[in-house]
This record gives sequence, structure tokens and C-alpha cells, in this order.
Amino acid sequence: MVDKKLYRLVNREAHSEYRGNSRTKVIKVSGVEIGGTRSVVIAGPCAVESREQTLEIARAVKQAGADMLRGGAYKPRTSPYEFQGLREKGLEILAEAKEKTGLPIVTEVMDPRLVGLVGQYADLLQIGSRNMQNFPLLVEVGRYNKPVLLKRGLCATLEEWLCSAEYIAKEGNTEIILCERGVRTAASGEYDRYTLDLNVITPAKISTFLPIIVDPSHSTGTAAMVPHASRAAISSGAQGLLIEAIGEHTDRKTIKCDEAQGIRPSTLKQIIDSIRV
Ligand code: PEP
Ligand code: MN
Repeated sequence: MVDKKLYRLVNREAHSEYRGNSRTKVIKVSGVEIGGTRSVVIAGPCAVESREQTLEIARAVKQAGADMLRGGAYKPRTSPYEFQGLREKGLEILAEAKEKTGLPIVTEVMDPRLVGLVGQYADLLQIGSRNMQNFPLLVEVGRYNKPVLLKRGLCATLEEWLCSAEYIAKEGNTEIILCERGVRTAASGEYDRYTLDLNVITPAKISTFLPIIVDPSHSTGTAAMVPHASRAAISSGAQGLLIEAIGEHTDRKTIKCDEAQGIRPSTLKQIIDSIRV
């Protein structure tokens, strides 16, 4: 299926406890287990925009049953004129949200020089799609002692994705969770932002013991598509979800980043209740 020699440490065949079975490594993130039998739900805003917005969403996603809080303090934006995130101030707001709700924090690190800083606040360090092949960044998080959420590149093959995981593992950090977030295809942009590649989940599980979760938000780009995408992902073997959420009564037009795809906490609760029956 995939050239096994290019990635060795994250290869299922290389480990006697995972060889010939379908078990995945259970990764503990501040008390939350990813890769076990229970589906993990990480939810929160695309970007930390303000203290009030983040605390409101953090409380609401906790109430809805989420296990962890997501939120970008450093945002990878297509244009340099778009909102870039609150940066260190955003990290401080996330720390307050964690203190108030008890939810562990998932946030993106884009710059190898900032791994130490972001790592002080993040329970799970997110490598974004655009940085899946930023090799110096992969090496840096590989040397850092925190679990890593490795998103699939916009056009990455499974082999390229696993080779990126290998860069992290080779430095000594094998606490890696894969996250499918949609890939570019001919259909992209017509009725969805990307195409959610649920087909990749089974081959990923055959090739590696690392757990895999799905992001139904960036892969669809549309709030109305998120509930079905979420349930389809879990049915396809995903071990968790990374979902963007907005305030229950927030006017979408006021959101600074990815305003079309965030779901309301009431919808999040319905999704969580339906995947945990
Ligand atoms: C995100 O999850 O905040 C994000 C920017 O996603 P991606 O890297 O998949 O585009
Ligand atoms: Mn987003």
C-alpha cells in the first residue's frame, strides 16, 4: 500500500504489540485518552478573538460534552491582511479558559521558534495543514515533550503524511495523533471547501498504530455539513473529532475567521450525544 521503508518508527509492522492487529496507541493528553474505545471530541472557536468570546464558547462546549478546547492564537491566513490571531494574548486567554472549565487546550504552533512558548500553554500542539511538511517545525515539536496533533497537508498523500509523523517520532516524540481535514479535489469550492477523505482512515490504520481523528469543519467549510460529516467520520473508524464552534447566538458576520463553518453548541451536543450512544 505504502512504502514502509520511508517511515519506520510509526509503522505498525515495526512493533510487535501492533503487528497483525488493529490496535492503536492510546495517547493521554492531560487526562483525556485518544485512541481508546471512546470517541474524543475537541471543540472551540477557529480563532481566539477575545476573552469573552473564548470563555463563552469554552463553557458551552464543555456543557455540550466536549473533552478538550481548541482555538488558534496564531492563525495561518492566506492573506497577510487577514486577522492573524491574538498571539501571546490569545494563549493567555486559552489558559484562563482551561482554568475555568478544566478542558485541556489544543492550539496551533506555526513557527519553530515559538514551540517553547506555545508549548507552555498547549496540552496538545497542533501542526496545521499548511505546515505538515515544515520539516524544521516537525523536528522542533519532536524534541518537545508534548503530544502533537498532525493535520494532513492540503494535497498530501498518506505516505507523505506518515513521513511527516516520522520526522516527529525520529526526534523521540511518538505521542502523535493524525487529523484528516479534507484535501483539494476538482469539487472543492463548488459546494464544499475541501473534500473530506474518509477513505484514508482504514489504510492509515493498516499502515500505522497512531490514532486518527477527523476535522469535519475545515473539510466541509459549511456548518450545515458538519453533523453528517462528523457521524460519517466516526462510522469510518475515526477515533475523535476536531470541530469548530461559535456562540449559540453569535452573528456569523461578526466572526473574524472561518465564519461559515462553526456550529452552535446545541448542534455540537446533538453530534456528541449521537456518537456516544
Ligand atoms: C485549524 O484547525 O485551526 C486550521 C487552521 O486548520 P487547517 O490547518 O487544517 O487548515
Ligand atoms: Mn478555522
